[in-house]
Amino acid sequence: MATMEATAVERLYLAGEWIETAESLEVRSPYSGEMVARVARAGPDETRRAIDAAEEAMRQPLPPWRRADILERISQLVRDRGEELAQTICAEAGKPLKAARVEASRAVNTYALAAGEARRICGDSVPISGTQPGDGHLAWTVRVPIGIVGAISPFNFPLNLVAHKLAPALAAGCAVVHKPASQTPLSALRLAALSQEAGLPAGWLSVLPGSGSDVGDVLVQDERVRMLTFTGSAEVGWGLRTRAGRKKVALELGNASPVIVEADADLDLASAKVATHAFSYAGQTCVSVQRVYVQRDAVDDFLARLVRKVEALRIGDPADEATDVGPVIDASNRDRISAWIDEAVASGAEIVTGGGQRDCLLRPTVLRGVTPEMKVCSREIFGPVCSVIPYESLEEAFREANATEYGLQAAIFTRSLHPAVKAAARLQFGSVMINEAPEWRVDQMPYGGTKASGNTKEGPAYTIREMTEERLIVLAGA
Ligand code: NAP
Repeated sequence: MATMEATAVERLYLAGEWIETAESLEVRSPYSGEMVARVARAGPDETRRAIDAAEEAMRQPLPPWRRADILERISQLVRDRGEELAQTICAEAGKPLKAARVEASRAVNTYALAAGEARRICGDSVPISGTQPGDGHLAWTVRVPIGIVGAISPFNFPLNLVAHKLAPALAAGCAVVHKPASQTPLSALRLAALSQEAGLPAGWLSVLPGSGSDVGDVLVQDERVRMLTFTGSAEVGWGLRTRAGRKKVALELGNASPVIVEADADLDLASAKVATHAFSYAGQTCVSVQRVYVQRDAVDDFLARLVRKVEALRIGDPADEATDVGPVIDASNRDRISAWIDEAVASGAEIVTGGGQRDCLLRPTVLRGVTPEMKVCSREIFGPVCSVIPYESLEEAFREANATEYGLQAAIFTRSLHPAVKAAARLQFGSVMINEAPEWRVDQMPYGGTKASGNTKEGPAYTIREMTEERLIVLAGA
């Protein structure tokens, strides 16, 4: 999708209608700054209308087989339009095209997985006569939709993280009102068009670009929205939860992913994984490698291999097929990341490779000599920066890796069973990867963190459990 000075306003999707509104927002290329699109902007009024329509839609429930059929058709349409969707992700998010293509192909899976799950939603039989008062009764549970879902998503996976909310909600039988990130609303609007083309009846989905305070606040406050599913920063996510009253709130938030590299590890593999997964999408993934703890004997060898691989990464225009590392999302984030690097260097850290910027591009940066209190180590950097930190004992590595408010995914590289098994037990994260990067994810796995990183698991089967409630049925006189 070529960037251009766009003037026509793209409409938003409100319950089966494509509408214009009084205001619009600009979507600009993070790489060139050119306008990619101007998009109708929703406010509180459109949000309430979308909730009205969702309420109306849910009065006529879709049976599971119909939901599954529609989700399968959406999956097929996402596959058919995969290249167009990848171009859209690349244009609005500045994600390198090859990574955008992976995201589009993952969204095919997310919809297909949700379709499969929709066909097998069921409850349990309950052994009700296991105590004397239950004699003569039969009992079982069914899973019923929780109600209207409000979904709020971040800029960094504008297609597949949206799919992880919309597809399970529809599979569960819930109508959804979705607020995409203001910087990247286009992929979600394309997905809405494909959902409509796949036969999703009006009212089951609205996609409302707009601000957190306009659209988000109505989703948080309107009691008809029974569940909020939010992916984004910890600050915004936990703030929403405190304001959400009786709503269920599912949070998928940030991380400062640690990787432990034992001296016996395959250092070529470990350094290749770090080089790829600290810098893909310029480090703007919630599970990007940020802190690399390397057993002291192996540090020099590991660093030499890592630097070779990092310096071979191609930096540049995300639309170029060869680009590995593109821009960060905007100038304020670029300046923040640079300031954190400068602050670390001023406090004694050393830039092993990288540092500096070219226009909107930050060079992939590896630091050493960092200390735990430096922001590059203690906070989620969300940029193309990782730090290599030596350790003496495995206990020390676990202590340092756990010394963060976050707990999403972590990793260890080793050829020995003992440290691997210990890491699985000791690392306080939602997932522990062994000889794999902490950024690794496939769409059916339970993905989600502990501590400040969140309170839920995503992956269609897990999300559907969150978006349905168990109803107990008791039959007397059996
Ligand atoms: P963000 O600033 O928290 O924004 C996320 C979403 O929340 C956007 O749609 C944003 O809208 C909206 N929002 C902001 N303020 C709001 C408010 N007061 N009420 C309601 N909604 C509000 O996060 P981001 O910068 O887009 O994304 C980066 C963060 O997401 C990182 O921390 C990353 O780790 C996290 N993330 C987590 C996961 C995961 O699965 N755990 C995955 C990807 C990203 P506007 O765009 O209009 O401001």
